[in-house]
Amino acid sequence: MRRAYLDYNATTPLAPEVFEAMKPYWLDDYGNASSVHWYGQRAKSAVEQAREQVARLIGAQPAEVVFTGGGTESDNAAIFGVVGAATSAAKHVVATTIEHHAVLFTARALEQRGVGVTYVRVGSSGVVDPFDVARAVRPDTVLISVMHANNELGTIQPLEEIGGIAREHDVYFHTDAVQTVGKTPIDVEKLGVDLLSLSAHKFYGPKGVGALYIRPGTPFRSLLYGGHHERDRRAGTENVPGIVGLGRAAELAGEHLQADALRVATLRDRFEEGVLSSVPLVSINGDFHRRVPGTTNISFRGIEGEGFVIALDLGGVACSTGAACSSGSIEPSHVLAAIGKTNEQARSSIRFSFGRYSTPEDVDFVLGILPGIAARCRAMTPSWKEAVRKEAVRKQAFSRQLSAVSEPV
Ligand code: PLP
Repeated sequence: MRRAYLDYNATTPLAPEVFEAMKPYWLDDYGNASSVHWYGQRAKSAVEQAREQVARLIGAQPAEVVFTGGGTESDNAAIFGVVGAATSAAKHVVATTIEHHAVLFTARALEQRGVGVTYVRVGSSGVVDPFDVARAVRPDTVLISVMHANNELGTIQPLEEIGGIAREHDVYFHTDAVQTVGKTPIDVEKLGVDLLSLSAHKFYGPKGVGALYIRPGTPFRSLLYGGHHERDRRAGTENVPGIVGLGRAAELAGEHLQADALRVATLRDRFEEGVLSSVPLVSINGDFHRRVPGTTNISFRGIEGEGFVIALDLGGVACSTGAACSSGSIEPSHVLAAIGKTNEQARSSIRFSFGRYSTPEDVDFVLGILPGIAARCRAMTPSWKEAVRKEAVRKQAFSRQLSAVSEPV
């Protein structure tokens, strides 16, 4: 059966080059990177090479890179790390309403411990206004955490401006760059960030490994207690094969960055144009221009998103909704709610994401079957008939207005 994977924001396939680089560290070079013997030193030197590779990709120094168990851990470590190390009696954090749950739920956990948190709202574009971030800063603010690109919309946040605001107010600045590292050029100096989270499996590396960049001088308390690994910033025996994979993925990302971005944007645009021209009553969510190359989030009016994703999957297409399943019920995406979408609009929205191994044939295959599947799903949705009726009324009213304007007086 023909299949097309359009869910690169959820995870990416492992690059064959990454797999090859990792292999020896499963089978032969299995030493513990903390051991003094030959095996240990081979592992250690591989870990240090990976640290250099990651540092190079983000414009950092190797000593500023801490390996973690992925994006979620990096986000938790950054936020708990800075807040935990702050010595002031009152502590306050600024985040946005469209952060990933790895940040939002960490912020909520802080609130339960008495830390103040301000969630800055974003407009319908899905891009935060730096002035709103500046307004949210208080004398007791210790950290601003704003993601680089949103995982559902792909919208890119104005980090350089926010970095300037953080510096001006003497506040530390963290960014969750899980959806941009490996996809767009990153320079921690240019962005003005003090901490940056990244995750290997979003850019053709293995799952369960990531890194946190920490600018020297940033107060930081380790999340984990144990050995003195990672210069006391993350206890626990290093996941050597995973780290080697992350390093190689970072190196490859550096080599492929521009070509990948161009190709992936072309595919995404071809897909969007195809959907817009072949399926009625669809619209793109979030800012059209400030986006990472491979992401589109589309509302299919009158469609129930979960059912549509399942129907597409049965047709061989992998994509996703931003909905979260909690206690047996489906919660519409908090990101779409944050940009002002109604429950119905949010429930009808689907994210399609493209990457290095996506092809024009994938796009054409999906465009070949998607309109029919959408029509079938809509026919089964009671709200679709209502949506069609409302659209007809809207069009009639519009043409009446037009003819009134053009009638000679
Ligand atoms: N932050 C963002 C923006 C993400 O998209 C994700 C993963 O979907 C994460 C954090 C969590 O990363 P990980 O899956 O490596 O824990």
